[in-house]
Parts: sequence; C-alpha cells; structure tokens
Amino acid sequence: MFENLSDRLERSFKILKGEGKITEINVAETLKDVRRALLDADVNYKVAKQFTDTVKAKALGMDVLTSVKPGQLMVKIVHDELATLMGGEAVDVQISGNPAIILMSGLQGSGKTTFSGKLANLMKNKRSKKPLLVAGDVYRPAAIEQLKVLGEQIQVPVYTEEGNKNPVQIAQNAIKQARQDGNDLVIIDTAGRLAIDEQMMQEIKAIKDAVNPQEILFVVDSMTGQDAVNTAKEFNDRLDFTGVVLTKLDGDTRGGAALSIRTVVNKPIKFVGTGEKMEALDVFHPARMADRILG
Ligand code: GDP
Repeated sequence: MFENLSDRLERSFKILKGEGKITEINVAETLKDVRRALLDADVNYKVAKQFTDTVKAKALGMDVLTSVKPGQLMVKIVHDELATLMGGEAVDVQISGNPAIILMSGLQGSGKTTFSGKLANLMKNKRSKKPLLVAGDVYRPAAIEQLKVLGEQIQVPVYTEEGNKNPVQIAQNAIKQARQDGNDLVIIDTAGRLAIDEQMMQEIKAIKDAVNPQEILFVVDSMTGQDAVNTAKEFNDRLDFTGVVLTKLDGDTRGGAALSIRTVVNKPIKFVGTGEKMEALDVFHPARMADRILG
C-alpha cells in the first residue's frame, strides 16, 4: 500500500553518494520523504514538521562516504528518534492503592468499555488482582448492559446502580462496595459523547475530584488519525490524565496518532487494543510502534 520508507530513502540517498557529508541542500529531499511517510501514517502535520527538523539536526554532518548504506543509516536515525519521542520504554499502570482506582476517559465509540473489560481481565489473570468494574455511563442503558456482558464473560463483578443518574455517587458507592468485598482494583467506565462537550468534561472531572484515581486513562481510536490530537489535548487540559490507550490497531492504520499524541500532550501510551476480544490487548512498545509507523 505504501512504499517502504527504507526503499524511498535508499533511492534518494543514491544521489548523495560521492558527495561526502550530508548538507542542508542534499538532505532536503530525504527529509521530504520522511515527512511524507509520517503523514501517510496519519501523524499530525505540525508534529511531522517538528520531527523532521529534529532529524535534520541529527543528520547534518553525517558521513555518507564511510556508510555503505546511507539510506539505512538515515532510517535508523529516524526509527530511534521516533521510539525515543514515544517514550523509549513501555510504562506500566499504577495499581498500588487498595483499592487502586483507574478512571477511563474518552469519546463514545473510542473503545472505553471494551478496554475496561480487557484491563480487568489482564489484571485478574496476569497480576492476580481482584477487579471490580463500574458502569458509570448513566445515559446509555446499552453501555451498562455491554459492561455486564463483558463482566460475565471474564468472570469479573460489575457494579451498577440502575436508575441512579449521578455517576459521582455511583463511583463512590462502588469503591465502598469494593472495600467490603475485598476488591483491590476498581475500574470505572464513564460516559462519552460523539464530540467533546462541556457537560461530559465537567462530569468526568467531578468523578476524578471525588475518587482521586491513581490512573486516568485516555482511550482513543487510532483510526481517528489527525483528530486524535485535538481530542487528547482537550481531555488532558481538563483532566491531566496519566496515560493513553490506543485502540483498534488491528485495523490498517499505521498508528501515527501514537507519535502525535505523545508529542502534543507528553503522556505515556500504556496499552494498545488489537481487536474486539478480551485478550486483544498489548502493552505499548515504542520501538514496535516506530516500525509500524515507518512501514
Ligand atoms: P466506548 O463507547 O468508548 O465504550 O466504546 P466500545 O468499547 O463500546 O467500543 C466501540 C466499538 O469498537 C465496539 O464495537 C468494540 O467492539 C470496538 N472495539 C473496541 N476496541 C477495539 C479494538 O481494539 N479493535 C477493534 N477492531 N474493535 C474494537
């Protein structure tokens, strides 16, 4: 579908052979290729520009005579810089409180409810946690039902208060219940809207203030590409979230949203969703995502 960046760079570097060091003039074409590859991967254009400026500074003066394959060397510089910008290492979730509290945020359809189930499943099976899922979307009965179905499937209890329209109260009551029942992890799913709106933001901020979660995860659909940045920024400005979950990476997106969001809000991406099933969850690895973005 996309020409491999490595091939592109090899091609543009052929003209550099015999010219010795990389200069402003002869690197311009190559950087254009890097920028195009990033835009193809749905990286935000401002982020792509900023990125190529950084790579340019690193590439200038690079000795192309001693390098057999300067294109590959350039790809390595680009790859390493991408991985570094996306955080270098995988970052774990905080589950130290008792109960530890994790609050989900994000737009409707981003994959919050699915991810809540996946995370509960992972924590139960791999970290020996006893999670309680909380249905905090008081507007959509279907969302509550969806969480209940997931809970049953993964054998994790789900706290609901049908009829109660106050998500702050529901979250507080759920935490009391978790203490009583010995659940050491509370995962609160919240209502999302199709677009950012003031009421949704106030509501989730009120839940945050009331329950003081260790983690606030911002869940975003990786297919939303360029828009993901604006959404991430708005949520971060209001909530100061602690991590990002990138869903639907099983689609054909190249995952440029990872680089854009990380650059703009400077919060770690912690997980990626790779399917609808409860097992389709991976810890985020910056180097792997760099490979994917470069194609
Ligand atoms: P919410 O409105 O944010 O709670 O979103 P949902 O969890 O209901 O997810 C919306 C749709 O996306 C559902 O059909 C999910 O099955 C689907 N979905 C969620 N995560 C993934 C994923 O990682 N990959 C794929 N292919 N679909 C996903």
